[in-house]
Amino acid sequence: MSAVQKDTPVSTFIIVGGGIAGLASAIALRAPRRKVIVLEQSSLNREVGATLSLQPNASKIVEKQWGLGAALKQVGAMRDEGFNIYSIDGKLQRSIPLVSKTEYGADRMVYHRRDIHDTLKEYATRSDGHTEPADIRTSSCVVSCDPDAGTVILNDGSTMKADVIVGADGIKSALRKDVLGHEVQALPTGFSAYRLVLSSSDLEQDKDFRDVIDPRSSFTSMVMGHDRRMIMGPARDGDLYSVVALVPDQRAEVDSGNSWNSKGDLDTLLKEYKDFPAWATAPFRLAKDDIGLWQLRDTEPLETWYRGRVILIGDAAHAMLPTQGQGASQAIEDAEALGAFFSDLEGKLPLEDVQRRLKAVFEARFERAATIQRYSREAARPATDKGETKIKMNPAEFMDYNCLYNGAKDWVSTRKESLEKGLEGLVF
Ligand SMILES: Cc1cc2nc3c(=O)[nH]c(=O)nc-3n(C[C@H](O)[C@H](O)[C@H](O)COP(=O)(O)OP(=O)(O)OC[C@H]3O[C@@H](n4cnc5c(N)ncnc54)[C@H](O)[C@@H]3O)c2cc1C
Repeated sequence: MSAVQKDTPVSTFIIVGGGIAGLASAIALRAPRRKVIVLEQSSLNREVGATLSLQPNASKIVEKQWGLGAALKQVGAMRDEGFNIYSIDGKLQRSIPLVSKTEYGADRMVYHRRDIHDTLKEYATRSDGHTEPADIRTSSCVVSCDPDAGTVILNDGSTMKADVIVGADGIKSALRKDVLGHEVQALPTGFSAYRLVLSSSDLEQDKDFRDVIDPRSSFTSMVMGHDRRMIMGPARDGDLYSVVALVPDQRAEVDSGNSWNSKGDLDTLLKEYKDFPAWATAPFRLAKDDIGLWQLRDTEPLETWYRGRVILIGDAAHAMLPTQGQGASQAIEDAEALGAFFSDLEGKLPLEDVQRRLKAVFEARFERAATIQRYSREAARPATDKGETKIKMNPAEFMDYNCLYNGAKDWVSTRKESLEKGLEGLVF
């Protein structure tokens, strides 16, 4: 009989949502005598075509701590070398190498979204001989939960019970209202993002574009117009090229909850970018009608993330703008924190014990995630907007704040003093 068969699980963790936060949590929470179930509403077959970057604070957890580095390399993970900023006439204004200080312990990495999603799923479900693989149940839509009873209710009317429930169900979280006791809507931020991914070989055929940017070179390129911005870069060993084009949000009615799926229109995009020359808009025309449109929304920091046996993580807890590329990275940090604060527990989990640990996760994570949420929002404002700035760090200090992170327990110990002072600590 194998160790896994002898160690029948005696505690159950239900994770609602099989996105980056949910799958990362499934990896972090796998442990002997524990069952991890992921309930995902979709069939999980259609992860969107786009790139996703992880900053050093998260790539070190995924690639080193959890050991996914080699697997991700095999599917074309790329190290980002830095930012090149161009004016719309194609002149390089600034080149900012990404200084991966030795203390950061990792690089900023770019993945195809589908590749990192599939790799996380593989590691959550593969056999390792001493823990039970996570059980991912697709087409399982959760409509609500009872935090004190530790139950979730699915849309077919069935109920499932667990020792701990992790709400990793994204920006439109169904569990959030039950944790907070009231609804919180993600608010439009005044921006939308068109996104597209195309073949680098196709783009290389466009001489005008190729004369300015080498689509296989491992840099993130930005083209800055007045209130328009293109952010683009290579993925999958340079074979693909991803473009995000920001526009002022004129479509307040667009429902962004599962916005990866909403379709963008080429003619409207070209009109939005009519002041940009042909070289810059070449990727739009090459993508033809394979264009997505995402209305950028975020939430204010929530008053809490946990109640009873339930905790919210990822976008459900702290939806943020992508200006700092930290959305998925913060979700990974949440998952690591869950793993760390439940690591020494085997067996049944009394309610008081669960609550103590969920509180510890929240206290370790909240100030940091809220700071990055606010900073990401402030970074989206046009340079001419002189509105109140709540985050007092300059970009270099903020980079250090982001990247000098070595897991939740280490963070708590190094920041104990400011955590004790609560939100009046260092940064607000
Ligand atoms: C254009 C763009 C670019 C971005 N770039 C970056 C980047 O470079 N780096 C970065 O770090 N972040 C980036 N982000 C943000 C990042 O994608 C998110 O912050 C991150 O994916 C959050 O993960 P999540 O698992 O919390 O939520 P999601 O990815 O939304 O996953 C939630 C999952 O829960 C499922 N679900 C929802 N409701 C239910 C329910 N009721 N029952 C069961 N299942 C449910 C959904 O189907 C989904 O699979 C970007 C976002 C956008 C739009």
